[in-house]
Amino acid sequence: MKIDILTLFPEMFPAVLSTGVIGRAAERGLLEFAVTDIRDHTEDKHRKADDYPFGGGAGQLMTAQPIFAAMRALGESPKAAYVSSALSAARRLYLSPRGRLLDQTLAEELSREERLILLCGHYEGVDQRALDAFGFEEVSVGDYVLTGGEVAAMALIDVVCRLVPGVLGSEESHREESVYSGLLEYPQYTRPASYEGTDVPEVLLSGNHRKIELWNFEQALRLTAERRPEMLRAWIAAHYDALDKKKKAIVDDILI
Ligand code: SAM
Repeated sequence: MKIDILTLFPEMFPAVLSTGVIGRAAERGLLEFAVTDIRDHTEDKHRKADDYPFGGGAGQLMTAQPIFAAMRALGESPKAAYVSSALSAARRLYLSPRGRLLDQTLAEELSREERLILLCGHYEGVDQRALDAFGFEEVSVGDYVLTGGEVAAMALIDVVCRLVPGVLGSEESHREESVYSGLLEYPQYTRPASYEGTDVPEVLLSGNHRKIELWNFEQALRLTAERRPEMLRAWIAAHYDALDKKKKAIVDDILI
């Protein structure tokens, strides 16, 4: 997968893109990143990339011109969005609190794309014409307002890239995780078995895989019931019939 990032603050990205799982996947050629400094494309002699909004209102807006130029430099045409999205192979996303909320379903969808272009906003946002001309879809990382789209882009890159086949060590590792499985993840422990007077639950030391599986299942259900009851209801509606007898009994017990 190739990801282009358009930003006024390119210096924020190198650490995130070159570290840990994401950095190793990039080294192995599974991921490719290119960061574009939008200011490099401004025609303003003072490298200005913002201006006041027509019609008043507080703050500045990012201007359309350097975004058009930066997109053209990436080989994107403003006509592509009007004529046919098939003219561009890239999925173009503007990080924005007005957007579709980024969740695991959207992340999985994006992880199947070959190329993403991420536009990071700043100030009060971006001249609408730049968004419309290139058919940017708006994606939000949560119902709050950040000062800029960079941190949101980093979250999106992280969640999407770890779903790209081969990026994580094994496919198993994300199948059991919170949200991916439809339940929050059960608590986990590592060595030592005893620490500062607290012990790891005995069942986890038993070596009995079935008992451990049932314990993990029950803990995941209890945690989800406590923190995300709506998520638990949806999970039960989708999975209850397919559960074995023992797991059905655990669910029934929790629902009492
Ligand atoms: N005036 C804008 C509005 O009300 O929608 C908010 C602008 S915000 C201060 C500056 C930039 O931060 C936005 O252009 C966007 O790129 C980014 N941003 C802020 N909150 C975000 C969120 N929840 N998800 C994704 N991007 C966000």
